[in-house]
Amino acid sequence: MSNESKSIHDFDLSLICEYFSNVERQGPGSPEATVRALSFIDNLTDRARIADIGCGTGGQTMVLGRHVPGQITAVDLFPDFIKQLNQNAEKHNLQEKVKGVVGSMDDLPFGNEEFDLIWSEGAIYNIGFERGLTEWRRFLKTGGYMAVTEASWFTDERPEEIDRFWMDAYPEIDTIPNKVGQMQKAGYVPVATFVLPENCWTDNYYIPQVAAQETFLKKYAGNQSAEELVYSVRDEAQLYARYKSYYGYVFYIGKKI
Ligand code: SAH
Repeated sequence: MSNESKSIHDFDLSLICEYFSNVERQGPGSPEATVRALSFIDNLTDRARIADIGCGTGGQTMVLGRHVPGQITAVDLFPDFIKQLNQNAEKHNLQEKVKGVVGSMDDLPFGNEEFDLIWSEGAIYNIGFERGLTEWRRFLKTGGYMAVTEASWFTDERPEEIDRFWMDAYPEIDTIPNKVGQMQKAGYVPVATFVLPENCWTDNYYIPQVAAQETFLKKYAGNQSAEELVYSVRDEAQLYARYKSYYGYVFYIGKKI
């Protein structure tokens, strides 16, 4: 298989995990974007319960921990990410507030109406935006908030190359008005949406990977899968540079009614 037709989803999970555990974030985002999204949420008290789903090693979880009252349960499928997240929580002195647990977003270990806020950056695509919004709704109290980032088209039309890339990687990508409509249909009042600034992709996602790629390639010299993984992420970064006016991540914030 040429690396052009290989998307990151085709690689060995343990390799992907190791590669991404060497960077602070596993998806585009920034502390500023997390704080901005939080500014739309108004019901949090010391007793608030918050879930961070698909938390990775906890880049955004630590920001939440510093800025919200209450308790945060962070969930990810990969035990290594959760281990790192819990170590990060200790490093930031947030261990009383942030707890990482291993779990899958399609089978969450939560009860109905447990949470005041559900957060998920760069992760809901793993089960799909509409499915995630619909299935996770029952874990929220009435009046609770859902805040997720999701890959979205900025225009109705786009060049074929980038369209093809996304149809292969995540065909559920859609325009912002369509995503807002899906959120409303899933039982939320759409409260706010904003496009993540470019630095969420460059300074906070692709650039920190450059050094991690060098280390990774050295460690796995001659390993075809590891090399293809790195080439595939590099291709993706180049596509972003070329087509960033057509797509990006968007924060969608909704209130359960
Ligand atoms: N929120 C983090 C990580 C985003 S990457 C950040 O923005 O940096 C997507 C994350 O979803 C990865 O950590 C991956 O391990 C996790 N993930 C993938 N499938 C999952 C599932 N079924 N359940 C829970 N987490 C999952």
